[in-house]
Amino acid sequence: ISKVPISPGLYIVHIAAEMAPIAKVGGLGDVVTGLSKTLQKRGHLVEIILPKYDCMQYDRIHDLKALDFVVESSFDGKQFKNKIWVGTVEGLPVYFIEPLHPSNFFWRGKFYGEPDDFKRFSYFSRAALELLLRAGKKPDIIHCHDWQTAFVAPLYWDLYAPRGLNSARICFTCHNFEYQGTAPASEMASCGLDVQQLNRPDRMQDNTSRDRVNPVKGAVVFSNIVTTVSPTYAQEVRTAEGGKGLHTTVNLHSKKFVGILNGIDTGAWNPAADTFLEIQYSATDLLGKAENKSALRKQLGLSHANSRQPLVSCITRLVPQKGVHLIRHAIYRTMELGGQFILLGSSPLSHIQEEFEGIAKQFEHHDHVRLILKYDESLSRRIYAASDMFIVPSIFEPCGLTQMIAMRYGSIPIARKTGGLNDSVFDINDDTIPLQFRNGFTFANADEQGLNRALERAFNHYRSHPVSWQELVQKVMNLDFSWDSSASQYEELYSKSIARARSFHRT
Ligand code: ADP
Repeated sequence: ISKVPISPGLYIVHIAAEMAPIAKVGGLGDVVTGLSKTLQKRGHLVEIILPKYDCMQYDRIHDLKALDFVVESSFDGKQFKNKIWVGTVEGLPVYFIEPLHPSNFFWRGKFYGEPDDFKRFSYFSRAALELLLRAGKKPDIIHCHDWQTAFVAPLYWDLYAPRGLNSARICFTCHNFEYQGTAPASEMASCGLDVQQLNRPDRMQDNTSRDRVNPVKGAVVFSNIVTTVSPTYAQEVRTAEGGKGLHTTVNLHSKKFVGILNGIDTGAWNPAADTFLEIQYSATDLLGKAENKSALRKQLGLSHANSRQPLVSCITRLVPQKGVHLIRHAIYRTMELGGQFILLGSSPLSHIQEEFEGIAKQFEHHDHVRLILKYDESLSRRIYAASDMFIVPSIFEPCGLTQMIAMRYGSIPIARKTGGLNDSVFDINDDTIPLQFRNGFTFANADEQGLNRALERAFNHYRSHPVSWQELVQKVMNLDFSWDSSASQYEELYSKSIARARSFHRT
């Protein structure tokens, strides 16, 4: 229990590369929106700064307009103008930066995966700080996320605090230590950071390559608060195996480092109000869930002869982290067990995308398996609603949101015990966990045997104990995965950091 009073009405600015639903690749987008909405509801002023991508969902931005206000920011030693747009997304004020730069940084038809990503996002980080400075804003907290906006931390202290943008504490959240954005040290000069000063082992130098800089390391070193997205993952990244080269850095800065489990936006993910569903339903009306199962099976051309045939699904980016070989295995094992399987996923890696396209083709007209290899939010909602079971066999998983969304929609998670999965899925047979928290099926080893056993236990339970299964479905739908408790932890971190800064200035 904190002795620091929570500051009322903080002014918090998030600088991020994603925001759901307008610019979302994965969980980062959900977190920025969910955390911001909850902080706003708790009485804080929250603003978000995003790049103005061409490929955003513009129909979900309200009152978008260009400001009569151009911000000039420096890059490669030259000044570039930025057009500033403002709009409302999910009730949150958002600034969009449109660089008037010949490289058209955010006019690429995609969010990430461009050869000049380092330039695109170091440019954006600098322009976002320039906007705050020029607009005379005095935030209490600047919260940046992942390597794309990690540059904000060193830029703030080295360039912007000396120029008068000095009201803020910097909070950095790392949503996944796999993506560190390293680049040759010289590239950092473009955004105005001092290569000589920063390419040092105690600052931004990559821990495995002396001529490369590491933005995530820079943000860990230069931020006042560093968080990651679950307590278990926070422990894992402190080990050589989990830290992807940054464990020594995280350990050195462990005093300011903490893991806070993400929530989900329970307003946006609500089966009782989800208009994408065939029919809305709640924990007290599971017939509605059964109707969604039947409707989706028809929609996808799967057999719907037996309403008690277990439907297993998986919704994910198809990257090695997610245990793609186990996902593939689960398709075949589910079939052998007499269930149905739906995979919704897409891969930024062409060899994985192609492999799954092969499998999708094999099952194109199959009665019990369907693979849909694209990003499709409305379909994802129909799948969460229709499924009986939901697999998350990740090799590592910083937090993972799909298991929580699945539970909210009454699908029972089958998850590997790692990272945030270990903090949110508790095996129904685990005697060390109080009964009221047990909510799914877990396995320890990332291998086929581990997954098989958990899947088989789930199938047995579903088939042999239908009443108990239904109670389990109702129970997981009633669990609280909202942002309330996590947002209050962020609030406390912010307040403590601000209080520390104030006491420092007084002495
Ligand atoms: P990560 O951030 O590693 O991708 P998370 O589990 O934290 O994983 O978040 C994944 C989010 O992206 C969830 O909201 C999930 O529903 C969504 N998602 C992933 N793949 C797809 C897809 N192919 N279509 C629609 N939504 C998807």
